[in-house]
Order: sequence, then structure tokens, then C-alpha cells
Amino acid sequence: SFIDESVEEAITDYGNSVLYSSARNEYMIVRMKRMLERTVWALTKQLSAGDFQPSAYEFRFANGKIDRIDTCEDGDKVYVKVLDYKTGSKAFDVVALYHGLQLQLMVYMDAAVKAEQKKHKEQEVIPAGVFYYRIQDPLVDKQEEASVEEALLKELKPDGMINLKDEVLHHLEHRTEGESLAVPVKFNKNGSLAKSSKAVPEEEFQIMMRHAARKVEETHQSILRGETKASPYRRGQETGCDYCKYRHVCGFDVKVPGYAYRDIGKMSKEEAIAAMQAASKGEE
Ligand code: SF4
Repeated sequence: SFIDESVEEAITDYGNSVLYSSARNEYMIVRMKRMLERTVWALTKQLSAGDFQPSAYEFRFANGKIDRIDTCEDGDKVYVKVLDYKTGSKAFDVVALYHGLQLQLMVYMDAAVKAEQKKHKEQEVIPAGVFYYRIQDPLVDKQEEASVEEALLKELKPDGMINLKDEVLHHLEHRTEGESLAVPVKFNKNGSLAKSSKAVPEEEFQIMMRHAARKVEETHQSILRGETKASPYRRGQETGCDYCKYRHVCGFDVKVPGYAYRDIGKMSKEEAIAAMQAASKGEE
């Protein structure tokens, strides 16, 4: 009923007439409610897999707004998790992070850790993981009743990166075998993590956080220096111009001599982390 009420309220704000103006729009409202019900259901299930509790919603800070921060207190430690809701598909991409193309979650984590440290002055605040949750209402093949729920949760599993420090993984996911339905990890038969798991040792997680902070600083500096060169990246089929609002006015055109994409080569996750580490050592 909260979902029903909230959607109705939002529609009223939006102007009743528009959304109830056609059968198509009315159906959209039904879909919106269904999608929200699915989302609340999945987020609740994911949370109940571990020990975290929501600590802040729509947390505003200098560089943006964090959809949700969850924390888990364990003695003198406070574990922090950051969650961002997305409507399109979004995966945590270490190579994009290295190139400064996906800084959001690590920058959010830095802000969340600082905010939680202010609240918990006596405790050690530990970054646990960053996640994207994709808002959708997936369809799965009809299977046995018991596994439909599982199949849906697999589709709705957040993507992200986990810091394997101390008890982080256990607090995120109590299960120790098979595939987690709450976080992007899978366990091998011997209890170790499968290679496809999105989890790294603490040192690597820290390298990523520091790298994001450094990239933000570099970008600030280049803006202040007045750097405005049209130098969009290209990575496979994807380019910086794909969703750019300025593409019709900026003048960038590869057919014009002097204009070229900044090509980003292929790299493995391990290579990207090593490069971030080298960059941070170089700076020191
Ligand atoms: S369309 Fe123009 S302004 Fe936009 S990213 Fe490409 S080069 Fe830059």
C-alpha cells in the first residue's frame, strides 16, 4: 500500500491529466507499481542475506547524491556499503575506473566513509563494498515454484565490488556455498571464491578508492587550467560522444583533420589494478 500511495502521489504532482490521459499511460502506471513492488521485494531480500541496515537515503555531498548507504556495526568496527540505483544496465568496470570513466561509486564510498566516521568517532569505519542495483521487472522461465524466486533474484543481483577485509563478506552474505543471491560472488566447492566473483583484497580496494580520488582531483585541475580540447574516448564500439548533449554543436568530427578519438586499449581487471597501483606509486 505504501507503493500504491507513493505512486499515486507522484502522479498527482506530475499532473493527473497527463498520466491518465490514455490507456497506454494508465498501463504505464500499473507497470511502474509492479516494478516498484519487485524492487522493494528484491532489495529487502538482498538486505536480509546479511547484517547490514540502511543508514542514509539520498545522502547529499559535494560531488553528488548517494541513493543509499548501509552500515553494519561489529564491536569496534563499522562496515559501510554504498548502493546506487540505476534504470539502465550498469556493471562495475575496473578498466573504466582506471581511465576515469567510472568514478562514481568509489567517490561515493569515500564520502560515505567520511560521513560515517563523523557519526562513529570511536570506531574504525571500513568500506565494505559498492554496488549498482538495476531497477527492472525481469521475466524468468517458468520453473519449479521454489526456484522462480531464486531465478528472479539472480536477475536482480547488484553488480559492484567487495572489499575482502575482515568480516566484510560474512556480514554481506551469510551463505558460504553456491551462488549468492545478494552480492556478486560465487563460492567454489572448497569454500573459496570463484574467479568471477566481484571481490578484491583490501589493498586493491584501497588502490581503487585512491585512484578515483586522484582522477577527480586531476579533472578539477584540468578544468581550472581551461582545458577544453575535444578529445572523447573510444573503447570498442562505445565512445564518449554516445549520449553527449553537445554533439551537434561541439564540432568534433573524425572526418575533419586534427580530430580523433582517444582510443582506450583492451586491459584485464588485473592489469588495470596494477596500472592504478603504478600510477599511485609514481605519484608518491
Ligand atoms: S560530442 Fe563533442 S562535446 Fe560531446 S563528448 Fe563528443 S567531442 Fe566532446
